[in-house]
Amino acid sequence: MKYIPYAKQWILDDDVDIVADSLRSDYLTQGSKVLEFENKTARYCGTKYAVAMSSGTAALHAAAFVAGIKHGDEVITSPITFVASANCVLYCGGKPVFADIEEDTINIDPNEITKKITTKTKAIIPVHFAGHPCDLEEIHDIAKKHNLIIIEDACHALGAEYNDSKIGACKYSDMTVLSFHAVKHITTGEGGMILTNNENYYKRLLMFRTHGITRDPNKIINSDEGDWYYEMQFLGFNYRITDFQCALGISQLKKLGQFIERRREIVKKYNEEFDGLEDIILPVEKQDVKSSWHLYYIRVKRDRKAIFKKLREEGIGVNVHYIPVYYQPYYKNLGYKDHLCPKAEDYYDRTITLPLYPKMTDNAVDKVIEIMRKVVA
Ligand SMILES: *Cc1c(COP(=O)(O)O)cnc(C)c1O
Repeated sequence: MKYIPYAKQWILDDDVDIVADSLRSDYLTQGSKVLEFENKTARYCGTKYAVAMSSGTAALHAAAFVAGIKHGDEVITSPITFVASANCVLYCGGKPVFADIEEDTINIDPNEITKKITTKTKAIIPVHFAGHPCDLEEIHDIAKKHNLIIIEDACHALGAEYNDSKIGACKYSDMTVLSFHAVKHITTGEGGMILTNNENYYKRLLMFRTHGITRDPNKIINSDEGDWYYEMQFLGFNYRITDFQCALGISQLKKLGQFIERRREIVKKYNEEFDGLEDIILPVEKQDVKSSWHLYYIRVKRDRKAIFKKLREEGIGVNVHYIPVYYQPYYKNLGYKDHLCPKAEDYYDRTITLPLYPKMTDNAVDKVIEIMRKVVA
């Protein structure tokens, strides 16, 4: 059997047909598919507004911008995440502050958030690691007390549930960010989205996506000079997504339920089969939440590097999620020191991500189990 990757998209023939139709239509960008994808995703998640962007990173940048993050502001996030969760703060001139994680869920620990709050703190970016929702109620209480904005990084968590609502409903937050990168739950190639119930954020996000430009006659600052007239009112970017990408997104969204079911099936099987292996710690799913299982990470008690190497040699495309963000040379140069978040560092030293994706066959799952038994036992 060939190499089994840690993650992989699942594009079916009907996805291809829908993209082909879109390519033959009048609009390649800024057509009807963008709004349709936004509306359908918002409806799925139970939120009012959605703005699709060219990537999850662009969506995070946009969310941080409309949240008003500026030079001198501090934003608290998790060190165990993709660099984009913290980089979006730097893009706006703010300072990412890392709060340590919970040992069981690997999510940011609300108690650690509280410890990191200063007079400069403006926002919190909780990351639903591996698709397991953070303790949003608790984070919401902290934010309310200190008047902070919450931007959920839900790039792992489309389809996850917390207290009977979908992640993305923004019941406990101001905005939620999704990614449609190829390894995520559904894909548009590259792509991302911001969900919000706040109309003001929504309007500014639309402008930020296209250079800070508006054509709305009710919003222009100078006098309307004619039908050609538009105004750039703040410095935005070109973060637009194409129509054919959104056509793919619409088609993929229909399959999200099945995709997540298959992920859960594989996780259940892994959990049952690995239960007897003493030298590893399995991922958890707490009561009252439904993880969307973006990643299946284990923690080994020793020899991570050797085990990782052997698994790769046996054709298992294991990976590591994540290197603590502040270990990155760029962050070190900004003055971030080691030992900032001991639990995150301990987690990083032990973790290995095993293959998990809906297209994964039973044979591939069995092979991972067989090789794991051989390598870890
Ligand atoms: C994938 C991901 C992002 C960035 O999304 P892109 O679409 O790749 O730009 C941000 N945060 C997390 C946690 C992610 O996994």
